[in-house]
Amino acid sequence: MIYIEHMNNIDRRNFLKTAAIGAASLTLGSATVKAADKPLSDDRIGILVDTTACVGCRHCEWACRTAHGLPAGELESYSDNSVFKEYRRPGNEALTVVNEFENEKNPLLPVFVKSQCMHCEKPACVSACIVGALTKNEDGSVTWNDDKCIGCRYCMVACQFQIPTYEWQKSIDPHIMKCDLCSERRSNGKLPACIEICPNEALLFGKRSDVLKAAKNKIKRKPDTYINHIYGEHEVGGTTWMYIAGKKFDKLKMPPLGTATAPGISEAIQHGIFAYFVPPVTLFALLGTMMWVTKWKKTNGSDEPKGKLPDVNDEKEK
Ligand code: SF4
Ligand code: SF4
Ligand code: SF4
Repeated sequence: MIYIEHMNNIDRRNFLKTAAIGAASLTLGSATVKAADKPLSDDRIGILVDTTACVGCRHCEWACRTAHGLPAGELESYSDNSVFKEYRRPGNEALTVVNEFENEKNPLLPVFVKSQCMHCEKPACVSACIVGALTKNEDGSVTWNDDKCIGCRYCMVACQFQIPTYEWQKSIDPHIMKCDLCSERRSNGKLPACIEICPNEALLFGKRSDVLKAAKNKIKRKPDTYINHIYGEHEVGGTTWMYIAGKKFDKLKMPPLGTATAPGISEAIQHGIFAYFVPPVTLFALLGTMMWVTKWKKTNGSDEPKGKLPDVNDEKEK
């Protein structure tokens, strides 16, 4: 792992502490930052993935699973390169995955790319969520709140990187799953697990502004190694995780997205509900039903709730 060399004006411990306090206070609902309204902290996190330094060891996958209580197996088993035969995406049991791509400049040295939630500066998932179960925190992370989630899965539809997944296999308390930037570890003063374990300085963690400077310096110093593009600097309005590479990002299965922020798209989902003449009172009744069924499933573990469902008239009476 590597810390950014330019973090002069912010001490590591204070930075993590500040991030943790920010995350904790936001969890308590005291300072929730909706995607479009409040400016983010100047000290918010940035992470640079230098794909030219990644050796495809997949230790980050193991560390991430372990840190999140997901089945991880032995670290030694991650040296099995047969997983690279098929392209994989982050999912319920792996919040981050590494894929292998061809290196035309040197076929003996493939390109490896780690992927996970990008923690967008203006996250579509946050904007799409109609009950505020996803939060863009001041430290830059995007986190999910089980207590608020009604299981509608709009976030999955809205995300332009197709990141959030749902624990379909769980009958009790299914969660929306995605990288949470290791919020629990950071609240205890630790680095995200993947960054701490990375043995080859492929992941650079620091202030977003400093990480960007470092990325630009790398490209300037080695123009033959890198293409002149920092993926995530501007895509969809910017992201917390950013990438540099020796080949075009669309060849690394990173979607060629514009600089326009995505919330407009996700807000269209919400507006669409009204556009198709679903009046607010009906919407609230539908949401109430959805929430009731979801909570029932969370506590009882069945798809077949019994009893009286809330109806439109109940909502009208409130
Ligand atoms: S990558 Fe997707 S899930 Fe992650 S913050 Fe952006 S919109 Fe949300
Ligand atoms: S920051 Fe944490 S949750 Fe996100 S990919 Fe790394 S280890 Fe996993
Ligand atoms: S731990 Fe670092 S070097 Fe290894 S696969 Fe992950 S990002 Fe690449």
